Amino acid sequence: MSIFNEIRKRESVIPLLLDESFESPSESITINGQKVEALSKSIFKITPQVINKEECFLYSCGIHGNETAPIEIVSDILIKILNNKLHCQAPTLIIFGNLEAMRAQKRFIDFNLNRLFNKDYEKHIDATEAKRAQELEEVVFNFREETQPLTLLHLDLHTAIKGSKHKRFAICPVANTQTSEHINIFKAMNLDANIKKTTSSNTFSDFTSNMKNSHSYTLELGKVMPFGENNHEDFFDSRKTLEDLLSGNECKSKEKELFNYITSKKIVKENDTFKYLVDENDDNFFLIPKNTDIYEQDGQKVRYDKDTYMLFANSSVKRGQWAGILLERLENL
Ligand SMILES: [Zn+2]
Repeated sequence: MSIFNEIRKRESVIPLLLDESFESPSESITINGQKVEALSKSIFKITPQVINKEECFLYSCGIHGNETAPIEIVSDILIKILNNKLHCQAPTLIIFGNLEAMRAQKRFIDFNLNRLFNKDYEKHIDATEAKRAQELEEVVFNFREETQPLTLLHLDLHTAIKGSKHKRFAICPVANTQTSEHINIFKAMNLDANIKKTTSSNTFSDFTSNMKNSHSYTLELGKVMPFGENNHEDFFDSRKTLEDLLSGNECKSKEKELFNYITSKKIVKENDTFKYLVDENDDNFFLIPKNTDIYEQDGQKVRYDKDTYMLFANSSVKRGQWAGILLERLENL
């Protein structure tokens, strides 16, 4: 039973990802000169016969299991490659992240997979996700060994749980050098905002951004919906740009300016006394005027003497994890 035939038959890899009993040994085929390898049913490597670019790509999706739109988009890209309709010009690794959480239609099972990279899985070894984080680190490490000195562009594709004042946005790890080419890619994807992190963390894109010759972003492309319920119009530009990058077509940048932010503070929930004093259910990027009490912990209220914007506020995270990120908006030059 060839995994490639199974994917083609279903016109999607998703039913196989969701089928716990389906396991695939590693397998490869050559399509019109490009080699497609299934390293497992959730990790695919594409190597063109001739490499026409100085880049290579990593697309990851489903690091949070219920963020289905990117999984559908990347599955469709894989189908195009298998059907000889998309020819990669550069080595490409495709990763579908948290399969157990996808099956459970949850963000994660035991522990947020996107907080376990940079070897933080060693601290949470009993979590279902720890093994997966380790596997993904190893797979990417091997891919980079093979693809040096090509420059890696890693796009880790997500959708957000809550609404957002900026519908689509990029998060740039602190180690990443952002180029005008990347900004053009974001404009082609119709992103609205660009956040530069000022501290390192344990996300997947942080992990890859620390590798030599590598650029990485976490991209938030819209809102979380169940499989089959995503509005394809909303993701049209993201999908098109992801395909254009692989096939070497020019990414058609839109005439727009991105809102630029930097992270100014990670809010860490130290213990169960933590509570927000602002409405944490408000959309991402909601404005907190200066001198507003933002949260309280151990009886201490915290406020800032500058306007800030809130991202990913969530007081129900586990103790020791961050419960939100405060942003400062930069003036556009
Ligand atoms: Zn996510």
